[in-house]
Amino acid sequence: MTKIAMRTPLVEMDGDEMTRILWQMIKDKLLLPYIDLKTEYYDLGLPERDRTGDQVTVDAANATKKYGVAVKCATITPNVQRMSEYHLHEMWKSPNATIRAILDGTVFRAPILLSCVKPVVRGWEKPITIARHAYGDIYKASELRTDEPGVATLRFTGESGKVSEIEVQKLDGPAVLQGMHNKERSIRSFARSCFQYALDTKQDLWFSSKDTISKIYDGAFKEIFAEEFEPYAARFLEAGIEYFYTLIDDAVARVIRSKGGFIWACKNYDGDVMSDMVSTAFGSLAMMTSVLVSPDGNYEYEAAHGTVTRHYYRYLQGEETSTNPVATIFAWTGALRKRGELDELPALCGFADALEAACLETMESGIMTKDLCHLAEGIETTPVNTAAFIDAIAERLTSRLA
Ligand code: NAP
Ligand code: MG
Repeated sequence: MTKIAMRTPLVEMDGDEMTRILWQMIKDKLLLPYIDLKTEYYDLGLPERDRTGDQVTVDAANATKKYGVAVKCATITPNVQRMSEYHLHEMWKSPNATIRAILDGTVFRAPILLSCVKPVVRGWEKPITIARHAYGDIYKASELRTDEPGVATLRFTGESGKVSEIEVQKLDGPAVLQGMHNKERSIRSFARSCFQYALDTKQDLWFSSKDTISKIYDGAFKEIFAEEFEPYAARFLEAGIEYFYTLIDDAVARVIRSKGGFIWACKNYDGDVMSDMVSTAFGSLAMMTSVLVSPDGNYEYEAAHGTVTRHYYRYLQGEETSTNPVATIFAWTGALRKRGELDELPALCGFADALEAACLETMESGIMTKDLCHLAEGIETTPVNTAAFIDAIAERLTSRLA
């Protein structure tokens, strides 16, 4: 069999623990036998991040800007316990935060659906993708708790020296106060990433906030989305998709009653909360994909879950694990398909489709990792370990490509 050719390399970001083991298995058994795989490899595993003073993460993000498409393995975000476990020089920042800061992107999360795993919300037939604005609001707020009556004011001093000040509240006793912000530039790039991704995936885009109550703050989000939509409007029409704005409470009600199949853009806090609700309702974190899309059209694909530390410690003890590789496989297929689209390589896109179909077919036939067995309904399931699961996928992939 001749291997499928690639033109431009993918930026490959390796990672940590159990997902690093999955990464190698996926490459060895599902990619390298079929594709003449071209990647520019960056090792984002914690030892290498520590050795390079985290420069490798910055280099990987810059390479993504250069080539346009990356695929990332889950990585450890160090905490105190990891400092001693890995003898780190510093408590390095989350690689995802570093990459996001360099690419200035928005993260889109979507579940992989199986007919045998029914969403808790019975009406949902298609995935719901959540786009969470990842800058500002309460995540960068300043807070104050006071212990006497007084007056709270909100004051802004411009570089020009001009001062704007308004009274927040006259307080007759102890109180709590919060000052938060967002940047117009960040809201604009959030909006553009959302419109871009809606076009890429041909799905409607919903955006919600609470502009009836927060007339200036949320009102600005609504206005900026409307302005940024203008240059996209014709392309939306052509693609047969819609953008619509609604109040957050109306959106929540509509989402529950919907059939799915759209992107829901959320402000930072709404996205934090709603992505946990939506992903739990769809089934399993192990079946959730994630892609970072920058406003100028760079893409970084990954699984939404972490490095599955508990399984890794068992693996180190020599035990077999039944870790689900599907979201990581779909990170690869997402990246390969995007590369295929950009480089006009239909065979590469076809390979991505075939590999995804082989994964779904394997699971629909009842062969699945343990995490899914207790979620599957209406079929006999056979729990298998990771290696056997990947072998079963490879078998189906080979016959699809024959
Ligand atoms: P996690 O790795 O997502 O795992 C949490 C639990 O979810 C696992 O113990 C496992 O449950 C289940 N699970 C997750 N993915 C699974 C899979 N593919 N197959 C089967 N079960 C799966 O989260 P964590 O344990 O909180 O974090 C571990 C490390 O990952 C941390 O160092 C964190 O910093 C990092 N992290 C990285 C990213 C990223 O790179 N994007 C995201 C989140 C966390 P059972 O043990 O019950 O089987
Ligand atoms: Mg959350």
